[in-house]
Amino acid sequence: MTSSPVWHPFTQHGLGEPIPHVTHAQGAVLHTQDGAEVIDAISSWWVTTHGHAHPRIAAAIAEQASRLDQIIFAGWTHAPAEELAASLRTLMPESLTRVFFSDSGSTSVEVALKMALGYWLHRGEARHRIVVMDNGYHGDTIGTMSVGARGAFNRAYEPLLFDVTSIPFPAEGSEQRTLDALERACRDRAAAFIVEPLVLGAGGMLMYSPATLAEMRRICAEYGTLFIADEVMTGWGRTGTMLACEQAGIEPDILCLSKGLTGGAIPLAVTMASEPVFEAHLSDDRARMFFHSSSYTANPVACAAANANIAIWQDEPVAERIATLAQRQSAQLTRLTSHPLVRNARQAGTITAVDVGEADGYLSDLAPRLLAAFRARNVLLRPLGNTVYVMPPYCIEEAQLDRVYATIVEAIEEVAGPN
Ligand SMILES: *Cc1c(COP(=O)(O)O)cnc(C)c1O
Repeated sequence: MTSSPVWHPFTQHGLGEPIPHVTHAQGAVLHTQDGAEVIDAISSWWVTTHGHAHPRIAAAIAEQASRLDQIIFAGWTHAPAEELAASLRTLMPESLTRVFFSDSGSTSVEVALKMALGYWLHRGEARHRIVVMDNGYHGDTIGTMSVGARGAFNRAYEPLLFDVTSIPFPAEGSEQRTLDALERACRDRAAAFIVEPLVLGAGGMLMYSPATLAEMRRICAEYGTLFIADEVMTGWGRTGTMLACEQAGIEPDILCLSKGLTGGAIPLAVTMASEPVFEAHLSDDRARMFFHSSSYTANPVACAAANANIAIWQDEPVAERIATLAQRQSAQLTRLTSHPLVRNARQAGTITAVDVGEADGYLSDLAPRLLAAFRARNVLLRPLGNTVYVMPPYCIEEAQLDRVYATIVEAIEEVAGPN
């Protein structure tokens, strides 16, 4: 493995950590070259919803690839994209009338930010400030890092990041501080507020209430600040409902979806926009069109995979699977909570998280040690700092989930326990 030219993401090659070689995957199980069977307890970084290699998604990809593999999307269209956009119109909040395609969560957020700025420019109002939430994560491109939390992972790029207004995370008991800060920013004519509804994923699986989400949406509406819901992680059932926004009874002005959009099989993203956002760009003046594209916008094969994902949502008992998983997760979490080495147990639908250990200072090396302990036990878990979370595919079996939690207990006792 020493001579591989591959430069891996979020990997320090200098540490010489082993990089397992995965040959195939099925359901919630990854098979490696050395014959190990690894339980995928984080849905291969939050994307796999129905399980790996779902036969209907695989078949849709194969069929579409042999019919129409790729076509320019500026000024051209095709059935898989039309069908997908029409389905999203029915599945997603009613006020989101327009579907713009891109390729990843990051690009869907870049598109959302550009739409928001275009909206204000074309309405003739000078609004360009973006409001963000502390500990937010929206991607790793320059624009998305600008609206995300600043830290070690973007220190080198800081000079390129644009200025934003941050509001505090609405921790339980201090929600009013967040709402007040948002209201101040909106009153100062912020262009848009971007937020992860209910769960801040990469920021440490931090969770806040639907009531706070609803209140934030109300404040934005009051001042005309566009509300951008980044549901790249929370969408497609993760928090128990199709969208996290549903639990707050709200509709955003702009919605970002990716990860589970194709069931996690192939990259695709959409940014959905309300009619006023679309109409701000609608004109007989070519200078007002929305200037964004990438080579593979609305790639037919990716759209076919997304259509198969939606068909699975429609014909298979996905909502029941999610409810069952949420119940099992809750039972496991209750047991885990009694462990003296864990605190701050929390859950949103299919996602659970706990913080491990006592203090925060020493913990910088906890994550890699836990990661190694999980690996040694053939469970794919990837702690965020001292936060261990479980976000499995909805098809995970009860015995597999038992093993995940037994492994968490073993690993935290080995790594964080007294010795
Ligand atoms: C993962 C994630 C993104 C970025 O998506 P990529 O496909 O990795 O570019 C953006 N927003 C949220 C909330 C995410 O969890």
